[in-house]
Amino acid sequence: MAFSPPRVLCLSGLDPVGGAGLQADIETLVAHRIHTLSLVTALTVQDSRNVRRAVATDPALLDEQLSVLLADARPDAVKLGLLGSIAQLPVIAAHLARLAVPVVCDPVLRAGGGTDLVADAFPAALRAQLLPLVTVLTPNATEARRLVPEGADLADCGAALVADGCTRVLITGGDEPGASVVNHRYGREVTAQRWQWPRLPETFHGAGCTLASAIAARLALGDSIDDAIDAGQRWTQAALARAIAVGGGRRIPGRLPA
Ligand code: PLP
Repeated sequence: MAFSPPRVLCLSGLDPVGGAGLQADIETLVAHRIHTLSLVTALTVQDSRNVRRAVATDPALLDEQLSVLLADARPDAVKLGLLGSIAQLPVIAAHLARLAVPVVCDPVLRAGGGTDLVADAFPAALRAQLLPLVTVLTPNATEARRLVPEGADLADCGAALVADGCTRVLITGGDEPGASVVNHRYGREVTAQRWQWPRLPETFHGAGCTLASAIAARLALGDSIDDAIDAGQRWTQAALARAIAVGGGRRIPGRLPA
């Protein structure tokens, strides 16, 4: 019998630097001995400092790709990264609803270098159309505040996103000030949990994508949701500690085999 590793379906943008997006997903999943089923939601023009622009995949093409792929291969988990347009959301939601496997969603709204990657109406559309289908949502603090502009503080944002329908929200604090990076998990039927990580002396490109993929990897391997959230952070922190330089800007997580 042929070896059949677990599979994670990734819908992500393509970053030519290889730090973020689909390459971050594939490298993270390979490191966990998982096969990636890969769909490109957007092509990007970027370097290790910032994204210049993103060009979304036609939603009809994405729909056709998903239909053909999923008729043949079933993933054990799904990871959503940068989604190219509001028009892609109903297509992705329809396929996720049929799949019924754990979904990790990294709600990419803006590049670390500062470029806005989505339309103004995108955060509300994402909340309404996708969050009821999401198992783990992984916004950073800036994304959480933009997703929930009515939120009084981050705990309030977390509660609102859980109320929208996702099972867990992990709000990461790498983009917040402080000597440590503090991440908070919120969820239905669980009390809030907090992780504190040493802040490394650099900023990174692709850290969020790596974290979401590592959580998806653990879910595909059979971890419980909360174990996956814990293990995904540990794996990402180790990758950041051995970050590599590929250009003159931010470093990217070290995901290559030792
Ligand atoms: N490019 C793509 C395709 C992405 O998915 C992301 C973030 O998820 C970025 C660029 C920006 O990554 P960062 O904010 O880590 O630089």
